[in-house]
Amino acid sequence: MLFIWGCFKAVSGRENIMKKELVSVILSACMAVTLLAGCGGSTGTASSAAGGAADNAGAAAAGAAAESAGEAEAGAADEAVASETAADEGGADSAEAESKEATEAAEEGESAEAAEAGAASSAEAGDLGLLEGGKLIAGTNAAFPPFEYQGDDGNPEGFDMALIKEIGARMGLEVSIEEMEFDALIAAIGTKTDCAIAGMTVTDERKQNVDFSDSYYDAVQSVLVPIDSEIATADDLKGKIIGSQLGTTGSFIAAEIEGVDPREYNKALDAVNDLINGRIDAVIVDRNPAAVFASKYPEQIKSLEGAGFGFEPESYAIAIKKGNSKLVEGVNAALKEIHEDGTFDKLVEEYIGEAEE
Ligand code: GLN
Repeated sequence: MLFIWGCFKAVSGRENIMKKELVSVILSACMAVTLLAGCGGSTGTASSAAGGAADNAGAAAAGAAAESAGEAEAGAADEAVASETAADEGGADSAEAESKEATEAAEEGESAEAAEAGAASSAEAGDLGLLEGGKLIAGTNAAFPPFEYQGDDGNPEGFDMALIKEIGARMGLEVSIEEMEFDALIAAIGTKTDCAIAGMTVTDERKQNVDFSDSYYDAVQSVLVPIDSEIATADDLKGKIIGSQLGTTGSFIAAEIEGVDPREYNKALDAVNDLINGRIDAVIVDRNPAAVFASKYPEQIKSLEGAGFGFEPESYAIAIKKGNSKLVEGVNAALKEIHEDGTFDKLVEEYIGEAEE
């Protein structure tokens, strides 16, 4: 083992990635054999390999190691590679703990198949920092048409849902959607979800807690008012009862209006209902959902362009766990492809029915 480790050190000093990978593969395979043979495959060996090989750890090496080391060894080799990935992210301590687990798993004679399946997913999960390997869990709030709404079967549908599925497909990931209140989306990232896609506006405040993908849609707030309302300018909103959805940019704007009586709702539609019932004077909500609500109740309400109220332009992006640059890069690469091959425009046409401005 020492000899191989020496070779690895020598090669890793250079920039030859192919060689590094080859040595890493040999190293992983040897480690697996050593671990299984029970002759010196100690925690120390595995964790020092984990530290040294951290920069070229990956599923490819795991796969190759599994092939050359054979079925039974695959589990341990994969576990070792998974711990390399952990070393990359979590530092030596967690790598040591994980390598210990790998050793124990091998010693306990855990079935190669089960170990392999577990390790493969944790290796993948490590690469993109996903909660579950091979799966992208996206949070949304399906009350924001046309971006997300309840489909006929009760499942979330809409532009964002189609977009995230397309992104997942390009990244080779299964997409699963978690529905929750809009206000809970950011806190759920990293524990319940991997990302949030919910017509979410990029704001400096949110950027303190999450990273964002490239923007995929331009937006602005609109003002919904009763059909016979005289509200037409920013001045007219002063001192009014204004509804908005909790935790949204619309609610941030409403809170700033002089003399306002702000009313926050979990769903924009609940605010719209109160507007129709005469309980509030106006609703501030994003332009596209405003248009959908106005077209649903054309006799009762109308939507006024935000520009007339001096609202700032906004843009939507996918929120991702802060610091997970690999997932941001993967999502951005997929988004770029989706734009370039015309899929994006098709989705806009299908779900939004207008050209993006
Ligand atoms: N774009 C708004 C925001 O990000 C509203 C989003 C929503 O209600 N889904 O705050």
